[in-house]
Amino acid sequence: MVVADTRVINAKVVTPSETIIGGVATKDGTIIEIGDNRTLPSADRTIDAEGNYLIPGFIDPHVHWGLSRYEYEYHEGLEHDFETETRGAVHGGVTTVVNFLLQPDPYIPDMDFFIKAGKNNSYIDFAYHAIIHKESHFNEVEELAEHGIRSFKIFYNWYKHASPELGIEHSDAGRVYRLLDTVSDINGGVVMFHAENEDIAHQRRQELKDEGRNDLEAWSESAPNICESMQIENIAKLTKYTDSTAYVVHMSTGEGVDICRRYQNQGVDINAETLPAFLSHTKKDDLGIWGKISPALRGEQSKEKLWHGLREGVVDYAGTDHCPHKKEFKEKEEGRYGDIWDAIPGDNNGIEYFLPVMMSEGVNQNRISMERLVEVCAENNARRWGLYPRKGALVEGTDADMVIVDLDKSTVVDDDFYHTMEPRYSTYHGKKLTGLPTHTIVGGDVVVENGKLQVEKGDREYLPRYDDGVPIE
Ligand SMILES: [Zn+2]
Repeated sequence: MVVADTRVINAKVVTPSETIIGGVATKDGTIIEIGDNRTLPSADRTIDAEGNYLIPGFIDPHVHWGLSRYEYEYHEGLEHDFETETRGAVHGGVTTVVNFLLQPDPYIPDMDFFIKAGKNNSYIDFAYHAIIHKESHFNEVEELAEHGIRSFKIFYNWYKHASPELGIEHSDAGRVYRLLDTVSDINGGVVMFHAENEDIAHQRRQELKDEGRNDLEAWSESAPNICESMQIENIAKLTKYTDSTAYVVHMSTGEGVDICRRYQNQGVDINAETLPAFLSHTKKDDLGIWGKISPALRGEQSKEKLWHGLREGVVDYAGTDHCPHKKEFKEKEEGRYGDIWDAIPGDNNGIEYFLPVMMSEGVNQNRISMERLVEVCAENNARRWGLYPRKGALVEGTDADMVIVDLDKSTVVDDDFYHTMEPRYSTYHGKKLTGLPTHTIVGGDVVVENGKLQVEKGDREYLPRYDDGVPIE
């Protein structure tokens, strides 16, 4: 008798308690059984993992859809990017995404649109963070929580000058205090920070420009490590004062690891995320302006300390900061080695290389175990954003979002590697990666098999985070 829809057999299955040899059976989008091959129910379809790993799909907690504003109005861009960038996500083994909403207008009136934009266009389930950067946004925080948004980002790198072209107001320590204080009353509420000291960056940038510098290392020197560490120190103090929860996005420095450890040891709820870019590149790499990201790439010592922070648990989260832009807009039509100061900061295509880079640079280089990697890229992200246990772990009764990973399979990142809007560049372009997904399964459906897309876009779920987390369907 056929009981299950799909089952994966002959796998090293990474569960929260242990890695077992066997498989997983799914029915109606849910995991119904995990265990030895012989005990699994029969199924309409059986996939032989051939001894490879079966892990929960990665959760990317940090993407910016809809900001390629040179081509699209924000709402139109959001719909567009949900399709193109989550198409890349499923090829890369990412099965859930949390996107940052960013607009000067109030968010609440557009919530229906935001939910529909994802449902109709995404290949994977999705949730939202909201960026609080206007005075009017502060009045929306409590109502946003009722709409399932309980994470709020503030640009603590823009406390004086901000970014008028994006309609962003500056966020000084007073605003940071207010947001932390408000969010501390929300169940599961988190304030997310871009942490960089703006005064020093402003000064250094002018000095380096005056010296005639125009190289990737100058971009790093223009906001040196202390810019990040000074601001994280402030954030930790304000988090302690308000008894709230803080999350430092895209932490780039070893100094940041040391500060987070010190405050975590005092019981302060300060959390840190890092990016594949900071774990595998340095400011010395020959990337041209494709390597211009914000915060900037750092030195070898920071890279090693971030890996150490991931292993020891001070850094508990990884994401991508994926922000799609056409190459012409990124380079401002000056080419890969054009004006470093003028070029748009941010990386392209992160969500598609997230898992391959973490396998290639992490597991395959013995920097991190597969089990710890699954924690920081799936389980912890699910827990932090209220999605656990529905997402983030291979457990009976949860969504069947899974990836088979072949640690020996390799490829060179070229135009054919990507399935996103803009395959022509990223910080990994031209690099060889070893450790790739062979199958991506979303809600029990095989969506990508050996590089081939198997489904149409859309029909995915918005994941609202309420007092008890996301509802289990
Ligand atoms: Zn970001």
